[in-house]
Amino acid sequence: MNSALNQHVLVLNRLWQAVNVCTTRRALTLLFQGHAQAVLSEADGSFRTFSFDQWRDLSRQAPHEDSVRTISFRIRVPRIILLLIYDRLPKKEVKFTRHNIFERDKNTCQYCGRVFERSDLNLDHVIPRDRGGPTTWENIVCSCVECNTQKANRTPAEAGLHLIRKPKRPKWRPFVQINFSLHRHDSWKHFIDLAYWNVELGEDAG
Ligand SMILES: [Zn+2]
Repeated sequence: MNSALNQHVLVLNRLWQAVNVCTTRRALTLLFQGHAQAVLSEADGSFRTFSFDQWRDLSRQAPHEDSVRTISFRIRVPRIILLLIYDRLPKKEVKFTRHNIFERDKNTCQYCGRVFERSDLNLDHVIPRDRGGPTTWENIVCSCVECNTQKANRTPAEAGLHLIRKPKRPKWRPFVQINFSLHRHDSWKHFIDLAYWNVELGEDAG
């Protein structure tokens, strides 16, 4: 098995947003089929895109150590590809889990704004359950023991508490954070940083 074919390639959608990580094998197939272009970062920080033919020419003109051999030619391994087709990768919704609520709220009590160890935080129903408050992204927040005790079985307004931000379903995709940190390559940095900042802005804007 050629290990180069199993290296990781960052996949961008048509808006140049990082959406996935795939193997070189898959990336070259998408490139060959015309469904994606290879992306190369330039020294000046810009990015160039290459069709399959252009990429093959580049591989021939400027041989690179990260190359794989096909039956008839060697081709450089792309580190990033840009999808040209509709992004058919499944859109993973962020799972509604205890872990992801802590992630969304950044281990911060959503009433007093202080950061705690996870073991010192509760999950609070903003509108209490027995008042019909659902167990949803929009009605569950992290809260510290102190605030939780003060709030008791009341609404924030009744307890004199204020949410530091309106709870929402997060927009980030967990796999992005997991895979990117494990297999990241230098040239991915730009797009991963973008994804990171997009998350921050999206969350804070609410
Ligand atoms: Zn608190």
